[in-house]
Amino acid sequence: MGLFDRFRKGLEKSRSNIWGRLGGWLQGNRIDAQFYDDMEEALLASDVGFDTTIWLVDQVRRQQQKERISDPKELPSLLANAMTKALSGVDSQMQFAAEGPTLVLVVGVNGVGKTTSIAKLAHHYKSAGKKVILAAGDTFRAAAIEQLMEWGARVGVDVVRQSPGSDPAAVVFDAIAAAKARGADLIICDTAGRLHNKANLMAELSKVYKVAARELPGAPHEVLLVLDAVTGQNAVSQAQVFREAVSVSGIVLTKLDGTAKGGVILPIVRELEIPVKWVGLGEQMNDLEVFDAKDFADAICSS
Ligand code: GDP
Repeated sequence: MGLFDRFRKGLEKSRSNIWGRLGGWLQGNRIDAQFYDDMEEALLASDVGFDTTIWLVDQVRRQQQKERISDPKELPSLLANAMTKALSGVDSQMQFAAEGPTLVLVVGVNGVGKTTSIAKLAHHYKSAGKKVILAAGDTFRAAAIEQLMEWGARVGVDVVRQSPGSDPAAVVFDAIAAAKARGADLIICDTAGRLHNKANLMAELSKVYKVAARELPGAPHEVLLVLDAVTGQNAVSQAQVFREAVSVSGIVLTKLDGTAKGGVILPIVRELEIPVKWVGLGEQMNDLEVFDAKDFADAICSS
C-alpha cells in the first residue's frame, strides 16, 4: 500500500466528516454562497479552526472563480490544493548529527501516545539499518519506565533506564555514554508527561538540555512534540504551551485513525508554523508515517 492509500485509510473518519456534509453538493450541478457556508461548517467540524477555515474557503473560492469552475465535482481537488499550500511551508525532514549519535528528545503530556510513538520511531530507524537506543527519561512514573522497557524488547532495541524518581538528566547522560560506547546512531529520549505549564516544563527540561548539549555537540538535534489528534483544538493549545517553553522542532500527531478531527493538523502547521514530521495511524509499531503535505491533503479530500 502506498503512502496515499495508507493516509486515505487512516484518515477515513476525518474524510467522511468533511465530505459527508458536502456530499449533496458534489452530486448537484451548482456552486453558490450556501456551498461555501457548508464548507466552512464542515471544516470547523473537523477541527480545522476558525482562521485556517476562513483562509481555506477563501482560497477555494478564488480558484473556482479564477478558473470559472461550475462543476461541484472539481471542488475536492481545489480544497486539496489549498490544504497542500497550507501544509507546505515547513520542512518535515528530520535533523541528524553530522557526526556521532543523534539525540531526539520526545515531549508531550501523558496519554497522547508518546511511548508508542517512541517505539514506532525506534522501529522505523532500526528497520532503516540504524542502531537505536531508548532513554527512559520519564522517571516520574514507574509504569512509564516499564512500558518503554516492554516496547524496547518488542522492537529489539536497548533501553537505558534508572530507578523511578531518579534525575532524568542522569538517564540522558547514561544513554549518551552507552550510545558512544556501543556505536549507536540514534538516542530517542522519553521525558516526563506531567508537564502542563511553562515553568514546570522549563524546570524539568533545562537540565536535560544542558547535559545533552554538553555531552553531545548540537544535542538535542530534534525536539519532537507528541500531540493527540483526538483532542482536536486542545492539541493546538498544548503546542502553544510547549513552544513557549522548549524549542519544538517537529510534531508527531497521533491517533489520526481514531478521530474525525484530523483537520487539526492544518492550524498546527499554518498558524503555529511547527512542522508535523510524523503521523500516527494506529497502535502497532509500523503505524507511523512520515508526513507528506500533498499525499495527506489528497487523501483527506479524496472521494
Ligand atoms: P503516553 O502516555 O503518551 O506514553 O501514551 P501511550 O504511548 O501509552 O499511548 C496511549 C494509548 O494511545 C495507547 O492505548 C496506545 O495504543 C494509543 N495510541 C498511541 N498512538 C496511537 C495511534 O496513532 N493510533 C491509535 N489508534 N492509538 C494510538
